[in-house]
Amino acid sequence: MLAALAGSPQAAPAADTQVIGESVRGTPIRAVRIGSARARTKLLVIGSVHGDEPAGRAIVARLRRSKPPRGTALWLIEDLNPDGHAADTRQNANGVDLNRNFPYRWRADGGPFDTYHSGSGPGSEPETQALARFVERERPRVTLWYHQALRIVVRSTGDAQLERLYSRRSGLPRKALPRYHGTAVGWQNRRFPGDTAFVVELQGGAPAPAYVRRQASAALALARAVAPQRVVSKPIPFGAKRKEEMRAYARRHYGIDDHRLRRPRVIVEHYTATSTFAPVFNTFASDAPDVELGELPGVCAHYVIDRDGTVYRLVPTSIMCRHTVGLNWTAIGIEHVGTSDGQVLGNRAQLRASLRLTRSLQGRYGIKTRNVIGHAESLSSPFHRERVERLRTQTHGDMRRASMDRYRRLLGRLPAPDSMR
Ligand SMILES: [Zn+2]
Repeated sequence: MLAALAGSPQAAPAADTQVIGESVRGTPIRAVRIGSARARTKLLVIGSVHGDEPAGRAIVARLRRSKPPRGTALWLIEDLNPDGHAADTRQNANGVDLNRNFPYRWRADGGPFDTYHSGSGPGSEPETQALARFVERERPRVTLWYHQALRIVVRSTGDAQLERLYSRRSGLPRKALPRYHGTAVGWQNRRFPGDTAFVVELQGGAPAPAYVRRQASAALALARAVAPQRVVSKPIPFGAKRKEEMRAYARRHYGIDDHRLRRPRVIVEHYTATSTFAPVFNTFASDAPDVELGELPGVCAHYVIDRDGTVYRLVPTSIMCRHTVGLNWTAIGIEHVGTSDGQVLGNRAQLRASLRLTRSLQGRYGIKTRNVIGHAESLSSPFHRERVERLRTQTHGDMRRASMDRYRRLLGRLPAPDSMR
């Protein structure tokens, strides 16, 4: 049975426990993974770091029974400070506040068991070292640290949209605290600026089950927000002949002797003027001269988003596609099955998929939101160039400025990918 499963995608164990280090007194510190070992995106939740602030442990226990969204795994550390928990002290057994001991903006503070005693040096404590090693290895996209008892989401230098999302879902307002020295969150956000770590200050005392559920579901909402999007690979034929045609096109129109799309700087949104995906695929696959300009290669787009939100990838973003006169040399093209701007923007599933795809491409290539444009905006792009005189003012009416202004506003509400902060 096991042997039969060995090669299947389900073979990776859905949970795993690892000892990531030991406390001062030699108690193992455990991390439990929920979700596939192969998940691209990992989140980390630390239930408790101050021994006298244990409420987050119940949330971690609840998350252990959850099912993380597709493509994500949760690493759960119920207790980073088991000695402090056993003794009901904020500090570890050396009397160090672990959340002042991290090796960023560390400074000497107090002596053993003083409230904010920062230890003998940056990262001096075994619990700090264990967590730092673990973060270096696993690179969690989001880390949540539970504390008590201020009842707020604490602003960090990480992604504000993720903190706002947690705040909305949890009912805890997002507020700033003074910039403490040597904190775990400070170190993480400095060390991995593309990822986000922040603190959630829960209420005092033991949390009721409904409260625990609400915090756990806020944590899962974060996982959904950063989960990789499902993309269906449906390549159109793009063999040597079509590549050569694309290269000739790029020479004629841009003076570029290459069929490859290097460093895309623009994303152009379109609609197909069809009501289904099939004719779009067939047109793009056929590599026939287009009806409008009579040129080769045939028109195409890198992605097509269907009415139900399914995202198809037709052409790798490393290859130029003919979708927008003047911009093919530097633009990724995204088509939406539909017959008007309003139909695309009014379709929740399609719009959501579109925004997520666009946002992740922005992150991958560092494309600014102002360079996410509609086809109808192509002539005003600073990247527009065209060597063929009669085509210099050629554009289409799909995805106009008013529609795209709304689209860009909505983009701004999604978590910002690594390269954009
Ligand atoms: Zn178009």
